[in-house]
Amino acid sequence: MQGLVIKSTGSWYQVHAEDGVDYDCRIKGKFRIQGIQTTNPIAVGDLVEFELEPNSDNGVINKLNDRKNYIIRKSINLSKQAQIIAANMDQAFLVVTLASPRTSLGFIDRFLATAEAYSIPATLIFNKLDLFHEEGLTILDEYKSIYENIGYPCYSVSALEGTNMPEIEGLLKDKTTLFSGHSGVGKSSLINALLPGRSIKTGEISGASDKGQHTTTFAEMHTLPFGGYLIDTPGIRELGIFDIRPEELGHYFREMRDLMNMCRFNNCRHVNEPGCAVIKAVEEGEIELSRYESYLSIYHGNETRA
Ligand code: GDP
Ligand code: ZN
Repeated sequence: MQGLVIKSTGSWYQVHAEDGVDYDCRIKGKFRIQGIQTTNPIAVGDLVEFELEPNSDNGVINKLNDRKNYIIRKSINLSKQAQIIAANMDQAFLVVTLASPRTSLGFIDRFLATAEAYSIPATLIFNKLDLFHEEGLTILDEYKSIYENIGYPCYSVSALEGTNMPEIEGLLKDKTTLFSGHSGVGKSSLINALLPGRSIKTGEISGASDKGQHTTTFAEMHTLPFGGYLIDTPGIRELGIFDIRPEELGHYFREMRDLMNMCRFNNCRHVNEPGCAVIKAVEEGEIELSRYESYLSIYHGNETRA
């Protein structure tokens, strides 16, 4: 039978099969995933084939279908091991907020670069709209325009008051969407608003989930009542880009990508090279300074880690 993996514990997988029934499945044998070493071969969003064990309702997964895309989290302690968080997403939503606690532009830019690296369309959801009035709303619009100008859709919502939620539901309908966001932005509140009857704990700004770096945390896939799937990533602070080469990084910044072939040197790193079209665009205000600063910060971060 064919099915969709909707839950993973690392040893058991809940598979939503073609017949509409959910089966508990396990893996037999080895699954080799090209190019990367992973701590878990299968993740939510994967399409698999499985067989039922004799006289049992439990299945054995014997084939993993090709993935359209996937995202990983790097293990901090095992340099070459990655954990696959989810597969086959149509889009990724980053929940952010400009107040209590404000999401840094660097965090947003790292997320967007990651989404570009995995070719997953990204959307920014600015939550806590109810906290903004007059001047605050102007600032919110300024932030949104940084990203709208380079082609990332941005939406303002209030999970608390339900503002603009029907619009978000429209975007999610019949799609598989990854939800990400650092703690405190209201991601759980938003997900609760989308999944009536289900309630994920909210308001845990610090605590156990922050210790999650060395433990394995699994994404959760929820079926949306109006059609589609939502993948939550509880306890996963940040997604990772696997083995990104510094000279590739510019490709993951949309507004830099198109300019790069106008740099004087074809191996330009856009850091301090003469004749760099990217630096020129930053100086002329065509590229937002904050975006370029994020580029440099990731660039140098990767350099020191390498
Ligand atoms: P998470 O850590 O991202 O899952 O965030 P939570 O959903 O737990 O919310 C963190 C805090 O922000 C809680 O105190 C929520 O009540 C509050 N919060 C969530 N959404 C909103 C919103 O739209 N407006 C306001 N004012 N507060 C919100
Ligand atoms: Zn350059």
